[in-house]
Amino acid sequence: MFEKIVIANRGEIALRILRACKELGIKTVAVHSTADHDLMHVKLADETVCIGNGPATESYLKIPAIISAAEITDAQAIHPGYGFLAENADFAEQIEKSGFTFIGPTADTIRLMGNKVSAIAAMQKAGVPCVPGSNGNLGDNDQENMALAKKISYPIIIKAASGGGGRGMRVVHGEETLLNAIGLARKEAKVNFGDDNIYMEKFLQNPRHIEVQVLGDGHGYAIHLGERDCSMQRRHQKVIEEAPAPGITEAQREEIGACCVNACENMHYRGAGTFEFLYEDGHFYFIEMNTRIQVEHPVTELITGVDLIKEQIRVAAGEPLTIKQEDIVIRGHAIECRINAEDPVTFMPSPGRINYLHCPGGPGIRMDSHIYSGYTVPPYYDSMVGKIIAYGNSRKSALARMLGALDETVIDGIKTNIPLHQDIIKDANFAAGGTNIHYLEKKLEKN
Ligand code: ADP
Repeated sequence: MFEKIVIANRGEIALRILRACKELGIKTVAVHSTADHDLMHVKLADETVCIGNGPATESYLKIPAIISAAEITDAQAIHPGYGFLAENADFAEQIEKSGFTFIGPTADTIRLMGNKVSAIAAMQKAGVPCVPGSNGNLGDNDQENMALAKKISYPIIIKAASGGGGRGMRVVHGEETLLNAIGLARKEAKVNFGDDNIYMEKFLQNPRHIEVQVLGDGHGYAIHLGERDCSMQRRHQKVIEEAPAPGITEAQREEIGACCVNACENMHYRGAGTFEFLYEDGHFYFIEMNTRIQVEHPVTELITGVDLIKEQIRVAAGEPLTIKQEDIVIRGHAIECRINAEDPVTFMPSPGRINYLHCPGGPGIRMDSHIYSGYTVPPYYDSMVGKIIAYGNSRKSALARMLGALDETVIDGIKTNIPLHQDIIKDANFAAGGTNIHYLEKKLEKN
């Protein structure tokens, strides 16, 4: 096992990784920006290295600075968390070339999955159900593209092969706007992602977002840990997640889980990963794979009892997974609310000093957050300041506990989206389960 790990991230996930390291008896190095001297995990880490200024491009995205920090502190491995460099294949490659271990999949796997067209091809080969589409990059023959769209049948969506973050997608409802949309999508893809490859897919009108958590040992053995429903979204950003997904049967879980495991075993997947699907009319359609730990991983931890971060670290160190597929038992229900420092109505970011903090507690409540009374939320980063996660024997009990936890929480000094969460948790349609990815935006329009 590693003796010392660099945590190349900030905020709640950096603290989560630090806690896992403490349990495993691993020393930690916190690399941080000048704006983050006061972060909780920086205070708790064994060593700290300031790697640059506040803006992420001058610190958390500086690959040489992070690798140098590992060198000077004599660490063996680097955990990227999520966001920043977590899915950057060059980062993973340079870490390994410098003689350290990247806690995640190999650079080749990250590259394969980072290109959506190659990811879809790998999935089809493994028998994972995909959205009907172009099965490859679009060429520049207008007639062929028109015939292809007709065959897929409108509406269709044009997406960038190297896209991410919900950007660079265009929905086309009929032939008259197709060629223009292809031209624009190509230009946008080039500008935003440095790659003008685009592809086409059937546009699903009212899907849910359901994703499957996997763990692979890097040697050809993999397991799945059931699914999460993350349909409650605004601008393609997840707001609330839960596990298991309402209405998904044990047979469906087994079937889709087995497809994902097969894909992981084919690529000798190492570490934690997530297969994202759109789900409509009882069918799953793969859209992309995330080759990292996700924000919403705690809901899976609560219903399976598996510590996903510890497993990530173990397999990166070359140890086997501590659990086998037959050991995975899904018990109860868990819901997570992402707490953002933002105005609950206008969604404007609300950084600033937290004068007073009171965290929720009681049976089944977990709060993953780095904030404390007197902490100042800097303006440079994502507005998420933590996550409240509620567990119960049933979905109904998890919802009731979540509402209690939201009511108890006091974050004085900044605005947060807690009122929005209270509103959603009390919503009768959400309580019934199974709302689709457009539900929140439609609800907000009505308010
Ligand atoms: P990104 O990597 O940019 O997040 P994704 O492929 O994960 O892109 O898609 C982001 C979101 O866009 C999905 O969660 C869904 O809301 C929408 N979307 C993507 N593909 C389709 C599709 N074929 N039909 C309907 N909506 C889609």
